[in-house]
Amino acid sequence: MKPNILVIAGHDPSGGAGIHADIEAIHGQGGFASTLITALTVQNSRNVTGFQLTPMELLERQADALLADYDYQAVKIGMTGSVEMVEWIARLLARLPGVPVVLDPVLAAEAGGSLSKGDLAEAMLNSLAPLTTVLTPNLPEAEKLSGEAGVDAAGAALTARTGRAVLVTGTHDDTDQVSNHLFDGDRRRHWDWPRLPEVYHGSGCTLASALACRLARGDALEDAAGAAQAWLHEGLRNAWRPGGGQFVPDRR
Ligand code: PLP
Repeated sequence: MKPNILVIAGHDPSGGAGIHADIEAIHGQGGFASTLITALTVQNSRNVTGFQLTPMELLERQADALLADYDYQAVKIGMTGSVEMVEWIARLLARLPGVPVVLDPVLAAEAGGSLSKGDLAEAMLNSLAPLTTVLTPNLPEAEKLSGEAGVDAAGAALTARTGRAVLVTGTHDDTDQVSNHLFDGDRRRHWDWPRLPEVYHGSGCTLASALACRLARGDALEDAAGAAQAWLHEGLRNAWRPGGGQFVPDRR
């Protein structure tokens, strides 16, 4: 049976990141995605210039309709946008006990445009992170969330504070390798990938969704993390450029 993944994330109309990336990645990994869209953003393949959150009352009705009908094997959370949204998602997760949850703690687009309002970092740490299976911050997000500099200190502080596994992505900017580091309590593991030449849009969303799909299929966390990275790397090697800005991973 296809694993059913609940995606809670924002919409990127340019198709590179957000909900588009999530649905494509989950389908590419053999799963089925249903979606609660937290926000509509304004962006193209070059940058993000704004966003508007979905009214809470509408999201609540959508969530009630889905949960009355579907069983879920995993949840993937991307852009949350506001403290109020984070707290609502935390309440929603309480209705899905035992389901693996991947939290991609999106604060800004890779190109710099903000995707958050208020003290989102603190709200994610306090109310959402403890309910998740694994967090997938990129290095700037890990540093912002932990208040520590560098992958070692930031990853260790985040797994200690949340009690959850943390996959810090995209480290070692100054080398010809991209390293991703998994921190799970005292356990650590890292993967190195050859650095590719372009700048990519939606790689974080693609990885987190592929990981959620792997967990939904019953893979252990380390296996799921390795497989999701290998699949993303292949997608990045075959990336294409839909406009004048960043490249988008292939997610077939
Ligand atoms: N979610 C949405 C809606 C976005 O627009 C973006 C980036 O623009 C992201 C998440 C994060 O994207 P990435 O996977 O490039 O980190």
